[in-house]
Amino acid sequence: MKDDKSKSTTNDAGIPVPSDEHSLTVGPDGPILLQDHYLIEQMANFNREKIPERQPHAKGSGAFGYFEVTEDVSAYTKAVVFQPGAKTDTLIRFSTVAGEQGSPDTWRDPRGFALKFYTSEGVYDMVGNNTPVFFVRDPMKFQHFIRSQKRRADNGLRDNDMQWDFWTLSPESAHQVTWLMGDRGVPKTWRNMNGYSSHTYMWVNAKGERFFVKYHFKTDQGIDFLTQEEADRLAGVDGDYHRRDLFEAIKRGDYPSWTLKMQIMPFEEAATYRLNPFDLTKVWPHSDYPLKEVGRLTLNRNPTDFHTEIEQAAFEPNNMIPGIGPSPDKMLLARLFSYADAHRARLGVNYKQIPVNHPKCPFHSYSKDGAMRVENVSDPVYAPNSKGGPKADSERYPHLEVWGASGDFVHAAYTLRKDDDDWSQAGDLVRKVMDDEQRNRLVSNVVGHLKKGVSEPVLQRAFEYWHNIDKDIGERIKNGVKS
Ligand code: NDP
Repeated sequence: MKDDKSKSTTNDAGIPVPSDEHSLTVGPDGPILLQDHYLIEQMANFNREKIPERQPHAKGSGAFGYFEVTEDVSAYTKAVVFQPGAKTDTLIRFSTVAGEQGSPDTWRDPRGFALKFYTSEGVYDMVGNNTPVFFVRDPMKFQHFIRSQKRRADNGLRDNDMQWDFWTLSPESAHQVTWLMGDRGVPKTWRNMNGYSSHTYMWVNAKGERFFVKYHFKTDQGIDFLTQEEADRLAGVDGDYHRRDLFEAIKRGDYPSWTLKMQIMPFEEAATYRLNPFDLTKVWPHSDYPLKEVGRLTLNRNPTDFHTEIEQAAFEPNNMIPGIGPSPDKMLLARLFSYADAHRARLGVNYKQIPVNHPKCPFHSYSKDGAMRVENVSDPVYAPNSKGGPKADSERYPHLEVWGASGDFVHAAYTLRKDDDDWSQAGDLVRKVMDDEQRNRLVSNVVGHLKKGVSEPVLQRAFEYWHNIDKDIGERIKNGVKS
């Protein structure tokens, strides 16, 4: 903690130091003494300033704000954050996926849209993206997918051949790849993009009734994008373009906001819906499940210490408060483990004591000790106990966010439903949502990408892939690459 009243430099123990400029030597020209503990502290601290970057979502930034409920959705969830009139402090972090810390903000990539709500019943995190779908639907493929988007083993370079090799061997990626290669694949700013839970979650109301839901944070600034040419130029001119834009907008009082709208499916309908509602590569068409407004997210405060407030922010989808639960989405179920595990590896087991991750409500956990624990633990340290320690209150907090399942243990894809296939929704996006100009830019973006180092067999599969999405677009892409 720094004491602003004292302007005299101290070391980390608060002891005043004799000089900011000169190390301790034997005479002005003599050797440096090992007893210069302040010099040693400065050098040692510097050597340890960097912590491992996130793998993936390394490059990003964020801001603080609040979420206020504007409509009554208490019929669907008892979660305190969504009750009428509730206003909750929040933190958001935006990011790219594949790039490292120093990579340009304007590379074509999905953007992370990770939210932390500091509620009175614990920290609630929603770790979303600016896209409603994802490249794969089974967590077994996630690690391989990310490796294919990052760097080769031999030359340390990113490689379009590797990306298309993975995508074309994974047809479930078609919807997300079409989305990525379209205008929304490079947002103009983070303020000009939507955020989606992508995953399906469960909501439970005060009566114990269950619903499956998807979150849509719609930008109030309007959707806007960068063309490939603009994005390429900005990557050279200002690699931190999006980070800078957010910080400067908030600094000048131009607070960005998003309107939260939900798609809500009664629990029983999930069993018979024509699409698997838990398949992360699909959306629920709005005509089936229209958007229902909930409230507004506003960002109004920049971080003052990027490292402690953004770099050490640990978002984890397993942070779900009463009234919110997971769904049978396999990717989500795996993320419930992997995010917290990543934080333990990157920040240490006591990462929830870092102020930005700390609950802002009373908490009574039995966790104890471990590296870098800074908060006191008190007896009793076990449960059950007869010494007045915390006791789980299952009457007040029954675990209702559950569903039933049975079957043999298998390694298998989801059971296909009537309208489940990998190409239709990608085709709808091309044919029904995009206009002629958007389709032209889509073709141009894909052709440009395929022309950079994609090998012949992979190229042939890419033509087939696009042909499956849309015959006309597939033909145009093939002609464009061959011309
Ligand atoms: P709708 O016509 O009701 O919705 C189309 C959606 O597409 C809108 O949410 C719109 O967002 C979004 N959109 C517009 N242009 C683009 C673009 N260039 N790239 C990506 N998204 C865009 O149709 P359906 O609900 O039946 O969905 C049709 C297709 O739209 C889907 O297959 C999917 O690819 C895409 N989509 C669907 C979403 C959903 O949750 N149903 C969400 C986002 C995309 P906005 O309102 O912000 O303009």
